[in-house]
Amino acid sequence: MRRIKEYCGIFGIYNADNAARHIYLGLHALQHRGQESAGIVTSTFDEHRRRWVMPAHRGPGLVLDVFQDATLFETKLLGRAGIGHNRYSTSGASDNPANIQPFVVHYRDGNLALAHNGNLSNARELRRSFSQRGTLFQTTSDSELILHLIAQSPRRRQIDQILDALTQVEGAFSLVILTDDSLIAVRDPNGFRPLALGRLGEPEQEGGPAYCVASETCAFDLVGAEYVRDIEPGEVLVINQQGCETGRFERYHLAQNHGVSPCIFEYVYFSRPDSRVFGEMVDKVRRKIGKQLAHDAPVPKVPDDEKQPIVISVPDSSNTAALGYVTECQKLGYRCRFEIGLIRNHYVGRTFISPGQNRRETKVRSKFNTVAGVLKDRIVVMVDDSIVRGTTAKFLVRMVREAGAKEVHFRVTSPPVISPCYYGMDFPSHEELFANQFDGNIEAMRQWLGVDSLAYLSVEGLMKAVRAANEREQNYCNACFTARYPVPVEMGVTKEENEW
Ligand code: AMP
Repeated sequence: MRRIKEYCGIFGIYNADNAARHIYLGLHALQHRGQESAGIVTSTFDEHRRRWVMPAHRGPGLVLDVFQDATLFETKLLGRAGIGHNRYSTSGASDNPANIQPFVVHYRDGNLALAHNGNLSNARELRRSFSQRGTLFQTTSDSELILHLIAQSPRRRQIDQILDALTQVEGAFSLVILTDDSLIAVRDPNGFRPLALGRLGEPEQEGGPAYCVASETCAFDLVGAEYVRDIEPGEVLVINQQGCETGRFERYHLAQNHGVSPCIFEYVYFSRPDSRVFGEMVDKVRRKIGKQLAHDAPVPKVPDDEKQPIVISVPDSSNTAALGYVTECQKLGYRCRFEIGLIRNHYVGRTFISPGQNRRETKVRSKFNTVAGVLKDRIVVMVDDSIVRGTTAKFLVRMVREAGAKEVHFRVTSPPVISPCYYGMDFPSHEELFANQFDGNIEAMRQWLGVDSLAYLSVEGLMKAVRAANEREQNYCNACFTARYPVPVEMGVTKEENEW
């Protein structure tokens, strides 16, 4: 069995009428963070059995597919609290239904459900030690380890068991944990993945408002919640009835051993522009990134009697950065204008989902189409947020040329990806990364892509732009661009060795 990479969206809510419906909407807004499976678990008191239960509904596919049956919300997923999860993974493990989160277990202190976004960097080590002790695993996911650590903790209070578990895991973990009487939101001490707190209703209302936590604030917009603040790096926030009524919550802090380093790739590619992530709007940060690239690698200068170059984005993830790029190029005196030259089919899913290269290429072709009237006989500057394997860029360039472009220039709003992510972003192995196949030689990469010019944003340029747009956060994890990992990882572990 293969280990899966958790690359996901999570949502949790407490003290809400019909919690499951809110979670459903929240997951729907977070669909871009994972399209392979979805699940909801709620907590409700079973009058018949006189005990708390945690009904679950999970399945492969999109949120819309998994929750097609609306009666689920009236008959099964009952209760005023719950959590949900969207998963995105690339490997064979995605076929294993046991890996679909949230996970639910029953142990000596009641029910426990968990949804995880991130990757534990010491998972192999932990799993080995559990296996030696005879622990039976139900999944191939590192998230299950957290449940075992909680259940096996010698501590008496449940929150201490949870804290005990959290001090033993390393790496990236934004979590929502559901217990019989609370919703616990956790962000790892480095704050790799985002997690925000929202409120639904008025603080004065009887019983207090509902509180929710989500990977991205775009989920709050759909459920009608207002953003309160981010869960801080290392924070463990316990949301229970008393907290909802008083607005004061129990909080704990995990030890900070490796500094704070939110993932810069959330800003480059992953998060939605309408979300506030790490305390700043993604739209603002992404525009700034595009503007920085305009300074480093503007559009080509053309004579006045030549038609001005057109800038096109690779939709949707690079739209915002491309807008920043084009406006700044214009401000710097370069003739150019923004055009929509590529149309995206939204029903294909992300290119990365297809295992094996051939299917990936087919997917790129079925995902984008060109607008010939826009591209024909023009100097085209294509802006994409990243090149990972190079598949997307290669095929899009060919399509743009086939549509009649006179010249094709490629601009990337991030540096070359040179190192895999061990903290939850889904990248292939070191050897499969485009930049590594050419030893970072831009000229060789340019030739292979078949473009007239190729330019990436530099690491310094990216850091400068992001820091300027979000003054609150100054340190980020940029290991995918620098190979400098803020939390030690088992370097050189190949994909195969990572299988379990
Ligand atoms: P590739 O075709 O492998 O070079 O992938 C690059 C394209 O996929 C770009 O258009 C990105 O917007 C997008 N992308 C970047 N990172 C990821 C990722 N981790 N998962 C899925 N798509 C990605």
